[in-house]
Amino acid sequence: MVVLENLVIPFQINNKIKGTIVRLSSVASQIINDKYPKNINSIFADSISITASIGSRMKNDGVFSFQAHSEGVIKTIFVDLNYNSSVRGYISVNNFENIENLPFEKLISNGILALNIKEGKFSKNYQGLVEIKGKSIKDAIDTYFNSSEQVKSFFKLFNIFNLTKYEPESNYIAGAIKLELMPEINDFNNTEKPNEDWKTILMFLETMNSEEFLNINKTSKQILLNLFGQYEIKIFDEINLNNNCQCSNERVLNTLKSMDKKEIKYLFNKKKSIEVVCEFCKTKRVYSEQDLK
Ligand SMILES: [Zn+2]
Repeated sequence: MVVLENLVIPFQINNKIKGTIVRLSSVASQIINDKYPKNINSIFADSISITASIGSRMKNDGVFSFQAHSEGVIKTIFVDLNYNSSVRGYISVNNFENIENLPFEKLISNGILALNIKEGKFSKNYQGLVEIKGKSIKDAIDTYFNSSEQVKSFFKLFNIFNLTKYEPESNYIAGAIKLELMPEINDFNNTEKPNEDWKTILMFLETMNSEEFLNINKTSKQILLNLFGQYEIKIFDEINLNNNCQCSNERVLNTLKSMDKKEIKYLFNKKKSIEVVCEFCKTKRVYSEQDLK
């Protein structure tokens, strides 16, 4: 049996283009949990892949987060990735009928996408926002990174919910290739056209389809070599992602204890105990009023 991994592998092409390839199995399927129809799962899967391709190298106690809020069927998508390489995520969906046939614009309407980097206690946070327009999460992320006319970052996203058959035993659940054109440094007299390579490489990437990319019989390295093998390509160490939630009894208790006394009274109103469920890993914890003292 093939053991499916959850890998992020950084690479570089011709010392001019930085890239990341992401292929996820259990990490994505545990988060997605198949509660919703394909069109919603597909958007959620792409959000997880984007998070993995941007946030996999957080240092110290840093966290990268992806948030989408909308007034459509999907209220919120939240995915984050921390310095321990653990990914969490949840989606909140309005109770609409016949959502399985709705197009992207109905699922996410009047949407905002926010990417946030928290680099630990002593450094500043960074947050960027963009309106979600277009026909996919990819359109939104392209707008986010390429506000000028020249495309300098490129995402190609893949997920199993877009395949004709849903076969998780022979396919990865979600993945991405992200490419980024590195800025030319001190190169005012450069007469070469680095953009020519960039355009060709984007064309190669466009030929990659989901069937091929998600197929478990190919390794991520094989995919990279097939796509970009004619260039000088450096492939760096892989990063293994996991689903380990950072929640703990202590953290939940601290949050509860930080509420004011009236709120706590209200929470326990005639009840002996309350149940707190982690919205990410679904762990249930039970507390009595006595626990909060
Ligand atoms: Zn948890």
